Amino acid sequence: MKILRDFSLKDYNTFGIQARAGHFACFGSAAALEKLLSREPFSGEPPLILGGGSNILLTRDPACVLKNEVKGLQVVLQDDRHAYVRAGGGERWHSLVEYCIARGLAGVENLSLIPGLAGAAPMQNIGAYGVEVRDVFHSLEAFDLREGGVVTFFAEDCGFGYRESVFKRKYRGRFVILSITLRLNLTPTYNISYGAIEKELEAMGVTTLSIRDISRAVIRIRTSKLPDPARIGNAGSFFKNPEIDAEKYQLLKKEFPGLVAYPVAGGYKLAAGWMIEQCGWKGRRQGDAGVHDRQALVLVNYGQATGADIYRLSEEIAASVLDRFGVALEREVNIY
Ligand code: FAD
Ligand code: NAP
Repeated sequence: MKILRDFSLKDYNTFGIQARAGHFACFGSAAALEKLLSREPFSGEPPLILGGGSNILLTRDPACVLKNEVKGLQVVLQDDRHAYVRAGGGERWHSLVEYCIARGLAGVENLSLIPGLAGAAPMQNIGAYGVEVRDVFHSLEAFDLREGGVVTFFAEDCGFGYRESVFKRKYRGRFVILSITLRLNLTPTYNISYGAIEKELEAMGVTTLSIRDISRAVIRIRTSKLPDPARIGNAGSFFKNPEIDAEKYQLLKKEFPGLVAYPVAGGYKLAAGWMIEQCGWKGRRQGDAGVHDRQALVLVNYGQATGADIYRLSEEIAASVLDRFGVALEREVNIY
C-alpha cells in the first residue's frame, strides 16, 4: 500500500487542473481502505475520495486523496425478469454498460460513454438521454468514514433527484461507495424519447431496435457533440438545468419566446446551455478558461487554466444569466 507525497493530480481530473495532493494512495478493497484510514495522515484529515475525476473542479491542493480501485463485475442474482449486476466502485462506468449490453441486460444503454467510475454514479444520480441511474439502481455498499464499517443503502435511502443524492448533500464526504448493484431488465423497454437518438438510429439505418444499437447511437451522438477530455479539459455540464414553476415559466416564455424548456413534475426544466448562449458566452475565452463553442453548458480548460480561473468564469456566467433571466444557476460539478 503505497502512499505518495506531493503527488500531481493533473492526470487524475478531466479538467486537467494542476493541483497536487499532499498524500495520495489507492485502495482496492474495504480492508485496504480501512488500513489506510488507520495510518497518518489519512487517520486525521478527511480525505478527498477520487473516482475518474470527471465531475470535479480542483481549486486548491488537497491534503489527502484516496483513489477508488475496487474492481469486479458480476451477475449476483437472476430471476425471471431481472438480473442483478454488482460492480466494484473502481470499475469504469462504461465497462459496466458494456458488460450489461454483452449479456443482453437492458436499462443502461442510454447511459453509454459517461466518463468516470461506477462508484461515483449514484453521487449525482448520473443521467443522459432520458434515463437516470436510479431507474435501474438496486443498492450500494459504502464505508462510513465517521462511524467505521460498511453500510448498505437501498434505492429509497439514496434520496435520488435530478443530478442529486444524499451523498452529494446530506452525507457529503462521509461515505465511500465501494460497490453498486443494478437491477437490469431481461426484456428491454426502449427509451428513445430524446429526438436525437431517433434521428441517429434512422441515420444508422436501424429498423429493428436493440440495446446495442441504442448504445451505438448514443456513442455516435456523444462523440460528435461533446468535447473529449483527452483533448480539451472539461467536466461535462458545469451547471444543472434549473427547474422553475409553471407561473415563472409562462412569464419567461412571454419575454423570451425562444426559451428552451421541458415539462417536469411541478413545472419546467430550462436548458441552461441555451440561456448561457443567449448571454453571449458560447465559445468565449478568458485566458485558458473558456466556454465550449458547441455546448455552452460545458466549461473548458485550454491548457493552463487554474481551478480558480474556471470558478471565476462560472461566477460571471451565473451572474449574467441571473441578471438577464432572473434564474439562478447551480453548479453540477463538485468544487473542491
Ligand atoms: P469524480 O469526479 O472522481 O468524483 C465526483 C464526486 O464524487 C466527488 O465529490 C468525489 O469526491 C465523489 N466520489 C467519487 N467516487 C466516490 C466514491 N466511490 N465514494 C464516495 N464519493 C465518491 N454526468 C452525467 O450525469 N451525465 C452525463 O451524460 C455526463 N456526461 C459527461 C461528459 C463528459 C465529457 C464529462 C467530462 C463528464 C460527464 N458527466 C456526466 C459528469 C461525470 O462523468 C459523472 O458525474 C461521473 O459519474 C463522475 O464520475 P467520476 O468517477 O469521474 O467522479
Ligand atoms: P441536448 O440534447 O443538446 O439538450 C439540451 C438540454 O435539454 C439537455 O441538457 C436536456 O436535459 C434537455 N433535453 C433535450 N431533449 C430533451 C427531452 N426530449 N426531454 C427532456 N429534456 C430534454 O444536450 P446534450 O448536451 O447534447 O446532452 C445530451 C444528454 O447527455 C443530456 O441528457 C445531458 O444531460 C447528458 N449530458 C450530461 C453531461 C453532464 O456532465 N451532466 C454532459 C454531457 C451530456 P437533461 O440534461 O436533463 O437531460
